[in-house]
Amino acid sequence: MEIFEQLESEVRSYCRSFPTVFAYGRGHLLQDESGRDYIDFFAGAGALNYGHNHPTLKKKLLSYIADDRVTHSLDMATEAKRDFLKTFQRLILEPRGMEYKVMFPGPTGTNAVEAALKIARTVTGRTNVLAFTNAFHGMTLGSLAVTGNAGKREGAGVALGNVTRMPFHGYMGSELDTIDLLEQHLTDTSSGIDPPAALILETVQAEGGVNVATMPWLRRLGKLLKRFEILLVIDDIQVGCGRTGSFFSFEAAGLEPDIICLSKSLSGYGLPFAATLLKPELDQWEPGKHNGTFRGHNLAFLTATAALECFWTDDTLSKDVTRRGRLIRSRLQELADLHGGVVRGRGMIQGVEFPDVDLAREVSREAFERGVVVETAGRQDEVLKILPALTIPDAALEEGLAIVAECVDEVMTAGASQSGKRGDLT
Ligand code: PLP
Repeated sequence: MEIFEQLESEVRSYCRSFPTVFAYGRGHLLQDESGRDYIDFFAGAGALNYGHNHPTLKKKLLSYIADDRVTHSLDMATEAKRDFLKTFQRLILEPRGMEYKVMFPGPTGTNAVEAALKIARTVTGRTNVLAFTNAFHGMTLGSLAVTGNAGKREGAGVALGNVTRMPFHGYMGSELDTIDLLEQHLTDTSSGIDPPAALILETVQAEGGVNVATMPWLRRLGKLLKRFEILLVIDDIQVGCGRTGSFFSFEAAGLEPDIICLSKSLSGYGLPFAATLLKPELDQWEPGKHNGTFRGHNLAFLTATAALECFWTDDTLSKDVTRRGRLIRSRLQELADLHGGVVRGRGMIQGVEFPDVDLAREVSREAFERGVVVETAGRQDEVLKILPALTIPDAALEEGLAIVAECVDEVMTAGASQSGKRGDLT
């Protein structure tokens, strides 16, 4: 590990939680250089919905590379880009009656968010944007400004402005519907809120602690924004591409976002790739107004197309996600019933928040020791977040969940015997 400590910046983070050198990835499994297997319940923070190195995608990739097909092309037209656009239109947009222009903003999630914010502000001529408590949208200046977490925001080194924060669903407890609060602020001309260009939303706040917006809350939000002519930007970077069951996370709520941000699992293979989808009337970009060298990653176009062909021609995957999501939820609920805690999530992003804020971090550490990679989320890492590949076989899912359960038992017992405290939490 010396070279990482000696040469790589202190900014590194995940390698501190999972301190080994990984060598192979197959489906739901990671293997380190010593040959030890890990069940991957982290799935590249949602970038590996179809697992590591999916064989069909890999085959296409290998033959594309072997044939000297174009890898890099800025935003020039290529066969791989044409195939992706046609397939995305045929399998995703058209069947859902969705009409959008597709913009390639640069290869990562934060690029998709930056582009969304820029075009929303340009088109409306307004600077203010509404964003939610506990939101996470990325680490560059514009996306950090709409992100909630103080620790992340601190890194900016400059004031992060032109954003008004609103409480997410449930932020004020179950008694207060935060849409009422938003409505009041928008209606009252003395609320002090400058007319917003847009509101940016995650339907499930993944990094923020697996906070789930209910369908009625989402529907009310959609109507309110229409009434006040505020653009709705949905950041589906982590919970899109099937994570909640449907391709987009907002489908069940019937929302019609003006702008949609996609990345992470869009390439299907863990290759960097992002898209910002715009209602056609919002596509008011002048040519070159949002340039970037890596907006034509043809390997990603290729695997993204293959992933759509593999998984989105019927509803098999969606049904599997719903079924496996229920399985994860029921296992987490058993833990919460036993040890206290709250379970929340949708589809195959599920989290459990224990009464002791340190527990999730300790369980994640213990799980790694026992061969499961599982991350935490939330303002104090208080939520254990289960985010496996959507394609994980049921047996492996059960095995991983059983190991997590053992770890919770272990950590609770160790804590109780050390301090006599943790055992009282139930
Ligand atoms: N938006 C959401 C909802 C995310 O979860 C993330 C990353 O976790 C981002 C944006 C930023 O994506 P990236 O890390 O690729 O810049």
